[in-house]
Amino acid sequence: MPHPTLHGSCLCKSIEYQLDGLDMPIVHCHCQTCRKAHAAAFASTAGVMREHFRWTKGQDRLSSFESSPGKLRYFCSVCGSHLMAERLAQPHVIVRVATLDADPGMTPQAHIWTSHDVPWLEYEAVEQCPEWQTWIHQTTQSPVGAGLLAKRACQSTVMQPDTPLSRASPLPQGER
Ligand SMILES: [Zn+2]
Ligand SMILES: [Zn+2]
Repeated sequence: MPHPTLHGSCLCKSIEYQLDGLDMPIVHCHCQTCRKAHAAAFASTAGVMREHFRWTKGQDRLSSFESSPGKLRYFCSVCGSHLMAERLAQPHVIVRVATLDADPGMTPQAHIWTSHDVPWLEYEAVEQCPEWQTWIHQTTQSPVGAGLLAKRACQSTVMQPDTPLSRASPLPQGER
């Protein structure tokens, strides 16, 4: 059965790509180079066979960086989004799944390179942190799942909804 076409793009939309479905499982890569490249504790990636991947817009704005010998990471030279990585000898490329514009219909299967984890990436602590659907609200509004989570200790003082954000007034705009 043919896969539905998936579309992806960088943050500024200068560059777009298409793929005919993900050919390999989504994995969260914690390696040091992914962490630095994505400015994130880990990067969600999936392999796609070369014949199933194509750039559709703005390829002239792509830059690449050889993060380890033979491994090229491609990113937008305007906004910096990392979109794909490859080793030229391999038959597949590695798509940065979070740049897809729609749900690929798959869920992650593994975490890899956790030996490179940053010390502050504690999953238990993450689960205990209150969740906010947007940014932390200054009002009395409770976080999602308030009864369960709000009063639990959280490692990050910034994320405590009960803590006055006195150091940052007015409230800074959260990332989105
Ligand atoms: Zn861009
Ligand atoms: Zn990695």
